[in-house]
Amino acid sequence: MKRKADCIFCNIVEGTGDASVVYKDDFVTAFMDISPIVEGHTLIVPNYHTSGLTELDAEHGARIMNVATRIANAMPSSELRCEGSNLILANGAVAGQTVFHTHMHVIPRYAGDPFKIQIEAFGRGTPSREQLESQAASLGALLK
Ligand code: AMP
Ligand code: ZN
Repeated sequence: MKRKADCIFCNIVEGTGDASVVYKDDFVTAFMDISPIVEGHTLIVPNYHTSGLTELDAEHGARIMNVATRIANAMPSSELRCEGSNLILANGAVAGQTVFHTHMHVIPRYAGDPFKIQIEAFGRGTPSREQLESQAASLGALLK
């Protein structure tokens, strides 16, 4: 497995870094965030070093989503306070990434929890159908 010597998440995967591991298989490792936004905040990482989404292979990407879903679905039955959840992946510094080994956050949510997401910022734009069609075509062409 590819690893980076000074990467804290590579060390956790390898077992040399301190972590409270929730789940581990041949592809991914999930562990508790050391500085949780909400109690129970969990991270899921691929077992090899990738700094962002560009180098993440599809198999690991799918596995991360699979394990994130299972953890989010387990949270309400665990000792954690959880009435819902957010799955977040920051890809790049501009998106808020601070640890450059790809990771998915699973954040348990409950009414009045300390996590503030700018939900009000969603739904602000007013693009024309023409703009939406142009953007969809531009992106879609790259997926063929
Ligand atoms: P991001 O801003 O998306 O890169 O998130 C990095 C996350 O990694 C933050 O939520 C940190 O609290 C968490 N983190 C940093 N170091 C550790 C560590 N040694 N063990 C567990 N979580 C960590
Ligand atoms: Zn790493």
